[in-house]
Amino acid sequence: MHNDAFRPVSGFDLPRFAGIPTFMRLPHVPLGDPRISEVHVGLIGAPWDGGTTNRPGPRHGPRQLRDASTMIRAQNGVSGVRPFEMVNCADLGDVPPNPADLMDSLKRMEDYFDRVRAAGIVPLTAGGDHLCTLPILRALAKGRPLGMIHFDSHTDLFHSYFNGSLYTHGTPFRRAVEEGLLDPARVCMIGIRGTAYDSEDRDFARSVGIRVIPIEEFHARGTADVMAEARAIAGAGPTYVSYDIDFIDPAYAPGTGTPEVGGPTSWQALEVVRMLEGVQIVGADLVEVSPPFDPSGGTAYLGVSVMFELLCMIARVLRP
Ligand code: MN
Ligand code: MN
Repeated sequence: MHNDAFRPVSGFDLPRFAGIPTFMRLPHVPLGDPRISEVHVGLIGAPWDGGTTNRPGPRHGPRQLRDASTMIRAQNGVSGVRPFEMVNCADLGDVPPNPADLMDSLKRMEDYFDRVRAAGIVPLTAGGDHLCTLPILRALAKGRPLGMIHFDSHTDLFHSYFNGSLYTHGTPFRRAVEEGLLDPARVCMIGIRGTAYDSEDRDFARSVGIRVIPIEEFHARGTADVMAEARAIAGAGPTYVSYDIDFIDPAYAPGTGTPEVGGPTSWQALEVVRMLEGVQIVGADLVEVSPPFDPSGGTAYLGVSVMFELLCMIARVLRP
């Protein structure tokens, strides 16, 4: 099943600062390449931030995340999982968005992820802003709604911005519920905090049965207890995992457009992903890393570390 051609380049063979920086030093296998039929997990860049309402920059995320990801080694330091030996992973390259046209970008991304799904590949996507998740869900949820575990300091459940604009990075999950892409009873949002415009998003969550775990509850209960509930909510059905880097406290992840203080540490940020054991993950993303606000590169490194934890969980779903 596993093919050595999909092994990342090791730092023992070529220094980590050398070579062309693909995600985690994996081979670049774009859709259309004959090797694509052997790929199980595709790492994909979504360099688009047309849904951003405040400080922009995540369009530059995939390139910086690829560079930072050359630091990732083969084995999980805690679980010992070696994902690259369990499943064939590849860098599929970037979704081609249209920075001049929001609706066209959503269509291009949906078409791209339709092809990823048709190829039987589980996508692990690096954003991009959080609106990128909507076209991914449109592709992955065709035929049946998905559950979702969502790490973020915001619900992204608002109805609209600027007097009726329906498509922003603050609205993707409102659209996803309206379009039947998510089963609200199987959706759990974790880490929600910060000052708010009003309670419209939380009221909507309550009205459709989405479970919101605000940060004060997260800190009071601890990660293990919260994640046990999240796993129970997702249940045994197909589930998407969406991870906004602003879930993490800006002391650790300042390089993002809409930071909120009082969040989880970098340790907790990784720990919650390791606690997704048993969740039937059909796709995942890490969004909202904004390199212009990340001069140290630390946010990008934390982002790819989260992506590696997600990859380890996906590998365990595919090869239990
Ligand atoms: Mn978000
Ligand atoms: Mn957010």
